[in-house]
Amino acid sequence: MRWERGHVTEAFTPDFYLPDLNLYVELTTLKSSLTAEKNRKMRLLKELYPEVNVIMLKKRDYLRLLAKYGYGPLSPDQVPDIDRVLITATKLQQRVGELGAQISRDYAGKEPVLIGVLRGVICFISDLMRHISVPSAVDLMAISSYEGNGAGAVRILKDIDENIKGRDVLLVEDIVDTGMTLNHVIDYLQTKRPASIRVCTLLDKRARRIVNVPLDYVAFEIPDEFVVGYGLDFHQRFRNLPFIAVLKHELLP
Ligand code: 5GP
Repeated sequence: MRWERGHVTEAFTPDFYLPDLNLYVELTTLKSSLTAEKNRKMRLLKELYPEVNVIMLKKRDYLRLLAKYGYGPLSPDQVPDIDRVLITATKLQQRVGELGAQISRDYAGKEPVLIGVLRGVICFISDLMRHISVPSAVDLMAISSYEGNGAGAVRILKDIDENIKGRDVLLVEDIVDTGMTLNHVIDYLQTKRPASIRVCTLLDKRARRIVNVPLDYVAFEIPDEFVVGYGLDFHQRFRNLPFIAVLKHELLP
């Protein structure tokens, strides 16, 4: 940025160049009081080379990006109710891709009907179906959760629209906890006499299982903690987080 008698006396080398965006990125995690020199260089750079796209990300911006894409540590002022990220967005996408490929191999020559149980499953089923290469149908059902002791059956709030008689059903679940919901849903779908029912779940909280339901595909086994994100809620919040996180214990009843 400065020369003296043909020699460069001041230069600026941003940390990254993003070719797709034609953008240079300068990352600074210093305290803002220590960035005066960098700010001066950024100003000079923009003056001398107005055609160069360059952005400076400060610590706050950097933490916000980490949180947005599910890499810890979350800065507490962004999602204060979250204790920690359990499964990052990248890990979710990678594992869902693997499951989709495995399901496609297992169902080669068949035409499965994917049935998702609303609402927690929305992110998982919509990502999973895009990794399934065999022809397949998708349907959704909604149920009310069982009451207290688990003795009462689930109530169907929205039934499936597809006729599944004689067809291969792949039931897609967000999380299997005690297993009671899944058990009831399988019993209900069996009355429609499909050729087969297999179960694919995003999360398996095996430690809490009461009813032993066979799971054919499990993306992640998780410990006994209440999780949110990637479709899963707590009082309808957090479904929009692109990662799975553990909710702070003190928020739970
Ligand atoms: P189960 O009948 O297996 O005990 O419970 C399954 C249902 O309970 C799930 O479909 C989900 O709605 C809810 N659930 C169980 N554990 C969790 C959790 O850790 N987080 C959230 N958000 N929901 C859960």
